[in-house]
Amino acid sequence: MADYVEEVRQEILLPAETIQARVTELGRQISSDYRGRHVFLVGVLKGAWVFLADLARNLTVPASFDFMSVSSYGSATKTSGVVQILKDLEESIEGRDVIIVEDIVDTGLTLSYLVSLLQTRKPASLRVCVLLDKSSRRTTAVPLDYVGFEIPDAFVVGYGLDYSGRYRNVPYIFTLRPEVYS
Ligand code: 5GP
Repeated sequence: MADYVEEVRQEILLPAETIQARVTELGRQISSDYRGRHVFLVGVLKGAWVFLADLARNLTVPASFDFMSVSSYGSATKTSGVVQILKDLEESIEGRDVIIVEDIVDTGLTLSYLVSLLQTRKPASLRVCVLLDKSSRRTTAVPLDYVGFEIPDAFVVGYGLDYSGRYRNVPYIFTLRPEVYS
């Protein structure tokens, strides 16, 4: 990986191969649970695009995609407690088998807001798939149907996750050196 990443990296939490193996398993699980159906995946931008792209290519059931963009953090590392919709879905989800695909669930605020919002649009079913679960930080309960990894309470980047817009394209998940934040 590029020098600029090595300069800021503290620890690799999840190597690329570990992530790929788990995403393959999740794809198999979802394909088996939805056999004979057509899934409609809702990716939460921007963080989930890398995960969604890999997950989608591990599905063996027909799938369609749409995206939402929400903001709860700005460029800081702690939640503001406010969820704002920056981009809504372009298609109706009424009567469809919807799976929300999210990169990480921390306090649970963003996902619980999205789940309530999408429920009002009458999907045939609604499930949630997240790559990373920081369950020790949860303040708002949210049902998770598919979870990639439980992770400790640390701010992580890579594989879609950013700090200040950077590191989304790094193929593994890692923490940053403290001096990067200051
Ligand atoms: P929640 O609403 O569950 O507190 O936070 C969800 C959102 O916060 C995620 O979609 C993600 O954008 C951001 N977030 C939470 N924890 C982390 C983290 O460790 N790293 C990064 N880059 N973003 C995080």
